[in-house]
Amino acid sequence: MSRATRPIYLDHAATTRVDPRVVEAMLPYFTEVYGNASSVHTFGRDAHDALEQARRSAAGLLEADPEEIIFTSCGTESDNLAIRGVANASRGKGNHLITSSIEHHAVTHTCEQLAKHFGFEVTYLPVDSYGRVDPDDVGRAINSRTVLISVMYANNEVGTIQPIAEIGKIAREKGIPFHTDAVQAGGTLSLDVDALNVDLLALSAHKLYGPKGVGLLYRRRGTPILPTQTGGGHEHGLRAGTENVPYIIGLARALELAYERCESNNARIASLRDRLVSGVLAAIPQTQLTGHPHDRLPNNASFLFDGVEGESILLNLDLLGIGASSGSACTSGSVEPSHVLTALGLPAAQCHGSLRLTLGNDNTVEDVDYVLSVLPGIVSKLRAMSPLYSEPPAKGH
Ligand code: PLP
Repeated sequence: MSRATRPIYLDHAATTRVDPRVVEAMLPYFTEVYGNASSVHTFGRDAHDALEQARRSAAGLLEADPEEIIFTSCGTESDNLAIRGVANASRGKGNHLITSSIEHHAVTHTCEQLAKHFGFEVTYLPVDSYGRVDPDDVGRAINSRTVLISVMYANNEVGTIQPIAEIGKIAREKGIPFHTDAVQAGGTLSLDVDALNVDLLALSAHKLYGPKGVGLLYRRRGTPILPTQTGGGHEHGLRAGTENVPYIIGLARALELAYERCESNNARIASLRDRLVSGVLAAIPQTQLTGHPHDRLPNNASFLFDGVEGESILLNLDLLGIGASSGSACTSGSVEPSHVLTALGLPAAQCHGSLRLTLGNDNTVEDVDYVLSVLPGIVSKLRAMSPLYSEPPAKGH
């Protein structure tokens, strides 16, 4: 197997390359328009104008009002602000949170901490074998103490898209704030907050060809929220801290660019994904696609290979110049099976053989074909060495 002629990046769910047009938009705000957006002089006012233009632009894409946009330092902070902010503001009303069992740790660990240390009760909704939440389960989980529902828009490991508008309708009928972690959906799926029936929506720039370290939280006007970070009155008093103007400009520009080319991009990337999925399933026996067959992110191809460790596949791909990811998270030195895959009902032993390939703007048919030319050999070599693997019985015996 010879190395790819150029590095092939297939880990766009982890992060993306910053679009040079985004860098270009950001640059003047480091050295030319560098004022503090809260200062009253011209330097500050120029930065403030740029900040508010970025806010209007982002709000426009979400069909929201600019005052409903809170800029943050990342997707994790946006999720924390939404969940802790609403939970803390609603203490007099109740102490029950509803979320799904396949959320990103930014949501799961926040809910767990609220339960462990702050007296909240959390319902973790099950998902079906494709990773979908049943909206009826949301309705059934609501009780008189429920103060927040949080269900992610699209899953970061298997790419499954949730019925957000339906869940939001149920939440709205019951008058309960509904948060969605849209970090993986941003740049690909519609972010129209009214059509989605959401009250809070978290985004992160680095998943959509923007810089790392900047995100936003949409918060529908009137949704109860207590700031988690106190200080100055920035971001309508909801997120203290001098605004990072260049990065916010980068986030807004990345969003604009993503939605300018969204439809054609999605179609191109989905066709690469389909080529990858059908090629892998045809060439490698005892392999399954994880996540929903259709309702999934256009760039996500995730698999389980019987009898191999996903980590070993990753290392072999890396040696050939391919960057990919497995669904497993390393916890205190041992590789735990992913909570997402186990929630899909997959046996823990099988979950270790997971591989996530996430395509992006720079990938080509040649990249996909190169992966298809090397992956079957890697898997069969690893299976030949694996004590975990047994060949299926030959047909007719
Ligand atoms: N939520 C989801 C679904 C994610 O995939 C990620 C990042 O991987 C985050 C939240 C956290 O975003 P950030 O890296 O900007 O903190």
